[in-house]
Amino acid sequence: MGKIMTKKIQDSIFYKTFVDIYASYPAALSNAPGRVNLIGEFTDYNNGFVLPCALQYSTRILFKKRSDTMINVYSTHYPGEAEKFDVSQEIVPGDSQWGNYIRAVAFVFKREGFLLHGFDMLIDSDVPQGSGLSSSAALEVSVGGMFNYACELGLSPAKIAVLGQSAENDFIDCQCGVMDQMISACGIKGHAMLLDCESLETRAVAIPDDLAIVIVNSNYPRRLVDSEYNQRRIDCEQAARKMQVSTLRAADMVKLNTVKDSLSLNEYKRAHHVISENQRVLDAVDALKNNDMAVLRELMSASHYSLKYDFEVTVPATDGLVKICATALQGRGAVRMTGGGFGGAIVCLCRTDDIASITNAVEAEYEKQFNLVANVYVCTVGEGLKVTEIV
Ligand code: ADP
Ligand code: MG
Repeated sequence: MGKIMTKKIQDSIFYKTFVDIYASYPAALSNAPGRVNLIGEFTDYNNGFVLPCALQYSTRILFKKRSDTMINVYSTHYPGEAEKFDVSQEIVPGDSQWGNYIRAVAFVFKREGFLLHGFDMLIDSDVPQGSGLSSSAALEVSVGGMFNYACELGLSPAKIAVLGQSAENDFIDCQCGVMDQMISACGIKGHAMLLDCESLETRAVAIPDDLAIVIVNSNYPRRLVDSEYNQRRIDCEQAARKMQVSTLRAADMVKLNTVKDSLSLNEYKRAHHVISENQRVLDAVDALKNNDMAVLRELMSASHYSLKYDFEVTVPATDGLVKICATALQGRGAVRMTGGGFGGAIVCLCRTDDIASITNAVEAEYEKQFNLVANVYVCTVGEGLKVTEIV
C-alpha cells in the first residue's frame, strides 16, 4: 500500500467536497479502473479465455472509518443524493439504483462472514456509465478494496473481484461473468490480461508502446435483451451437453462436427463462435507480443463477424461503426465490437498517428448513417485496484 502526498489530493475538489460533506478528513483512497475487452467475447461464461485491459478511467472512493456501523455514501455523479444504511442490520435493496451497488458489495462481504463497520464515503469517477467500459465493476471493486483495507480482511485482489461479481449476480441481479471485476482488481499497468475463466489464472501481456486503443460507443438503445442473453447461454450449455463436455471450454471443432447433426442450428453456431473465439484470444496474445497489426486485424475482424453471424449479437449500428472505422484505418488497424453486444461499443487498435482518422470518420459518417451520436474514447492502459492511505 502506497502513501499519497497530502498536497496533491488535498488540492482536489473531490477532497474538498468530502471535507465539506462530512466536516472531517478522509483517511484513504480506493481506486479501481474501468476496462475494455480486446478480444474473447461470450467466452467467460463458457469457462474460456478473455483478453481485457484496464483503462485510465477509474472510480475513486475517499473514505473514513466510523466508530459505528452506518455506511454514508455520496457520489459526485448524483449530487445531493445521500445513500445510507446500517451494516449491522440485514442488507436489502434500497430506493437508489446506484446506492444498491454499495449495498450489494456490503451484502456479499457480510455473507462471507466478514465483520464490517461503518464508513463515510465519497465516490468520484470518470468511467462513463453504461458505455461498455464497466463502471459497475469499477465501483464494486473500489468498494471491495475499501472494505478489505479498512476492515483488515487480507483478501487477494482476485478474491475481491469474485466477491464483486457475486454482488452483481446475487444482489443487482445481473448475470455477468468475472472478467470485468478481475481486470479491475488485478490489471497491471501497460498490460492487457489473459484470463483463463476456468482456473482464474492470469498472464500479463504487454501492450506495445505505439499501440493506441480507441473505444467508440454506439449509443444504440438496448431493448429487451435479457431474454436474448439468457437464450445464448442456454444454447451454449445445451451444445456442451450434447458434446458430453462440462463447458464449451473443453470442446473443439472436431468434436463439434461429430455431433453436428444432433445440434440445432443455433446451438451449432453459438458453439462454433465460442470454440473459434477461444483460439483467437490465444492467437491475439502472440500477435500483441509480436506487435503484429496485420494478424490482430484478421483476428479482430474474424471475432466481429463471428459475433455477427454465429453468435448474432451485433446490431446495424455497431456493424456500421466497425465498417466506418475499418475503412478509415485502411488496413492499418484492427476493429471489432466489444462487450455484451446488442448495441454498446466497438474497440479499435491502431497506431497513434491514426487516431484522428477514426475520430474524423465517426464524426463525418455515423450520425449521417444511423441518426445517433457516438462517443469516442482515446484510451491509455491503466492499472488495477489500489488503496492508498492519505498522510
Ligand atoms: P456499465 O458497467 O457498462 O458502465 P451498468 O449498467 O452495468 O453499466 O452500471 C452502471 C451503473 O453503475 C450506474 O447506473 C450506477 O448505478 C452505477 N455507477 C457506476 N458508476 C457510478 C458512480 N461513479 N457513482 C454512483 N454509481 C455509479
Ligand atoms: Mg456493468
